[in-house]
Amino acid sequence: MNFDDTPQEAEFRATARTWINQNAPKQHAESLARKSLTGADFLKAAKGWQKKKSDGGWACMNWPRDYGGRDASPIERVIWQQEEGDFIKLSQPFNIGIGMCGPTVMAFASEAHKRERLPKLASGQEIWCQLFSEPAGGSDLAGLRTRAERDGNDWIINGQKIWTSGAHYSDYGLLITRTDPNVPKHQGLTMFFLDMKSPGVEVKPIKQASGESEFNEVYFTNVRIPDSQRLGGVGDGWNVSLTTLMNERMSIGARVATGFPEMFNFCSNLMLDDGPAIDDPAVRSKLATWAVRTSGLKYTSYRTMSAMSKGERPGPENSIGKLVAGSTLQEIAMLALELQGAAGVVTDPKTAEAAGEFQAMLLRSPSARIAGGTDEILRNIIAERVLGLPGDIRVDKNVPFNKIAVKGR
Ligand SMILES: Cc1cc2nc3c(=O)[nH]c(=O)nc-3n(C[C@H](O)[C@H](O)[C@H](O)COP(=O)(O)OP(=O)(O)OC[C@H]3O[C@@H](n4cnc5c(N)ncnc54)[C@H](O)[C@@H]3O)c2cc1C
Repeated sequence: MNFDDTPQEAEFRATARTWINQNAPKQHAESLARKSLTGADFLKAAKGWQKKKSDGGWACMNWPRDYGGRDASPIERVIWQQEEGDFIKLSQPFNIGIGMCGPTVMAFASEAHKRERLPKLASGQEIWCQLFSEPAGGSDLAGLRTRAERDGNDWIINGQKIWTSGAHYSDYGLLITRTDPNVPKHQGLTMFFLDMKSPGVEVKPIKQASGESEFNEVYFTNVRIPDSQRLGGVGDGWNVSLTTLMNERMSIGARVATGFPEMFNFCSNLMLDDGPAIDDPAVRSKLATWAVRTSGLKYTSYRTMSAMSKGERPGPENSIGKLVAGSTLQEIAMLALELQGAAGVVTDPKTAEAAGEFQAMLLRSPSARIAGGTDEILRNIIAERVLGLPGDIRVDKNVPFNKIAVKGR
């Protein structure tokens, strides 16, 4: 492993840094650091920065130029993300579209659709969402029930999705449906993309414990999608979804924070009854554990970057990043609130300790252990595909979907 930039990478880093210094929306720097830019103001700032990056040729770094990208190497993309600093937070509304839907469209859509949709996605003009999870199909995505039935040149969609991040502000969605219930569950699926403003699409925001509404239920009632918006073959939806899911693991894995720098800073400044928190042996022991773990994560991600710089593709071992970071985030938030004592119940950023940062972190942390693959699913992947342990017992393997025993059928 060599963590130093090559001369070309160093030159690229310098060019990126100069451009960011000259163009980043510095007026939002403070509110981004304090996480106080929210709602419509955040979306407006996010669209503005995405458009500026696109105009300057810095959006969707590793996408082909024809589709709004820069034809950059994977390692140049990583360098850009390191240099973007806090402004990378403005990419949040586009992460699903650019990180997961775009690559799927690029792999399976017609050339005309690619040229029409992808540049608008890259420039932030259009936002996409991922319509996969259902009440009966989360970890077991292939158990989904939303139906698509052929009607001439169209398909008619009926069913429900849930936990759809950003559906309330999305223009397009990547939708996986069941087109044949008579074959085993992985074989009867078909993928489409659809205009979220289509008649029959109803988006209902879900209120979260934090008070925010970042994800939604989405209902489909006789929604028409032209066959030209099918991605991949009829019945080949599972294969298409693997492209999305592989990109999802890579893009989420790279993003989950541990909260360690914030915690170290907090403990350095907090006074307990018997002195500074940073001098307390129990606190020091915890900080030392997290410091070691965070370094392990950093060097594991460097190993991935090093492999990417040699043109290799990250494999299932990448699942370890989100698995370790998600639980660390939760442990750190819990200790921070313990140290705050009774004051830990105050959540208003104006009056809470550390501007309510750890209260928000605690409420956010369970989602890091669920979205993009739960801890248990990631452990299964590591067990089966990295360690080579025997697979889960799958009782519904090779059973037609409509013959799988379910409660109430
Ligand atoms: C913040 C957030 C954003 C999300 N955004 C989106 C989105 O934009 N689009 C979208 O489609 N979905 C989205 N999701 C949904 C997410 O993909 C699912 O929540 C996730 O895949 C888990 O599915 P589930 O909620 O149905 O839980 P289930 O699959 O029902 O799991 C319940 C529990 O059983 C365990 N379990 C399940 N199967 C196994 C197994 N084989 N072995 C061991 N344990 C198992 C799980 O680990 C979990 O603890 C989002 C979720 C979150 C939290």
